[in-house]
Amino acid sequence: MSKFVIALDGPAASGKSTIAAKLADRTGAFYVNTGELYRTVTLAALRSTIHNDADLKKYIESQDIDYHLIDDRIIILWNGDKINQSEIRSSEVTEAASTISQKGFVRKFLLEKQRNCQSLGNIIMEGRDIATVVFPNADFKFFIDASAEVRARRRLAQENETPDNSTLESVIEAIKNRDSIDMNRKIAPLRPSEDSIRIDTTDLCLEDVINKIMNIIEDKS
Ligand code: C5P
Repeated sequence: MSKFVIALDGPAASGKSTIAAKLADRTGAFYVNTGELYRTVTLAALRSTIHNDADLKKYIESQDIDYHLIDDRIIILWNGDKINQSEIRSSEVTEAASTISQKGFVRKFLLEKQRNCQSLGNIIMEGRDIATVVFPNADFKFFIDASAEVRARRRLAQENETPDNSTLESVIEAIKNRDSIDMNRKIAPLRPSEDSIRIDTTDLCLEDVINKIMNIIEDKS
């Protein structure tokens, strides 16, 4: 297949990252996680303790947050340093990310950085608005979904992905809350593009999902 972009969108904890990483292995493409970019900006915003948008915009735009190809992987550097996964995945950042990601200046700041990844090679990019906004001409577009309960169960089963003392109910509520903000924002809301292939993973194991997607990709290539 000639150079390609595969867009993978979907709600919180739908398994996009795991699926995207596996697909990258199978196709030899680079895996690009856009949630990490929004989480890094959210961490920067929280650390800055700036509460008004005009100053926050100036501060965020002064930060060098971008993707880099290092050791054959596309990773994010923040002012030259690798981002710390436990910091960007803290419950504080997770909770604030949807609110920070609603802001037009944040999305504008990050849009070209995501698009520029295309120049690095074949990519599998996962997020919320990849098929609708970042790469409307992507070669393949998938929308990954699952029931909120199944997503919460999967999240609870992952280490360090939920706050201590989390219950199934609290994780379901947090996931629904995040989805609601992401789906109802004015700019680039979470939704499948008209030409996305929807994959409901509620009753599917990871291997079945990967095989299903790979069959679609191979059929069209
Ligand atoms: O994918 P992840 O759950 O790590 O993303 C964290 C948050 O970043 C999402 O809840 C969403 O608010 C925001 N995000 C976004 N657009 C993307 C990726 C993530 O708004 N393409």
